[in-house]
Amino acid sequence: MGSSSAPQRPDLDEVFPLELRTSVPIPPWRTTHVTLLGDAAHAMSPAAGAGADLALRDAAALTAALAHGGPPIPALRSYEREMIHSGFTAVRISAANGTRVLGQDPPPSSPLVRPASAPKPATGRAGPSAPPRGRGRPR
Ligand SMILES: Cc1cc2nc3c(=O)[nH]c(=O)nc-3n(C[C@H](O)[C@H](O)[C@H](O)COP(=O)(O)OP(=O)(O)OC[C@H]3O[C@@H](n4cnc5c(N)ncnc54)[C@H](O)[C@@H]3O)c2cc1C
Repeated sequence: MGSSSAPQRPDLDEVFPLELRTSVPIPPWRTTHVTLLGDAAHAMSPAAGAGADLALRDAAALTAALAHGGPPIPALRSYEREMIHSGFTAVRISAANGTRVLGQDPPPSSPLVRPASAPKPATGRAGPSAPPRGRGRPR
């Protein structure tokens, strides 16, 4: 016999709106000694539960590229190519999931944006436990 606990009312001081944004791919840039990883390169809605995973994967890939010992610019160029590919693959999945389950606006069309035809949750942690409601405005 468990104790019957009445459903708790939400503490409205703990609730806040969250605007959902999706980054849009840009053409590759000239590689320099300054590079990007994680959300700085490929921010996405939380609908794929993949942003933190990708930030950590980027960090590992960047470390491996630089630890290789060769000249840094080719290593960074190779890192950026793979980071952009994997990052924006997840961005497309996240945007499609967000449109489907969170009411997120679809991403703007762009020649660099391929449609995500079969959205599936990305690997890694499950999506957010308390997904934000409302319509985000992807950028
Ligand atoms: C509601 C929600 C749910 C999510 N759920 C998941 C999930 O289930 N799984 C998942 O993998 N991801 C999830 N994410 C995404 C994940 O949180 C991000 O993708 C991840 O935190 C990105 O890491 P990052 O290091 O690139 O950027 P950040 O975590 O944003 O780190 C950047 C840091 O830089 C600091 N900074 C900024 N400007 C400066 C400056 N000028 N000088 C010094 N420091 C500066 C910031 O304060 C911040 O600490 C979720 C995100 C949200 C909003």
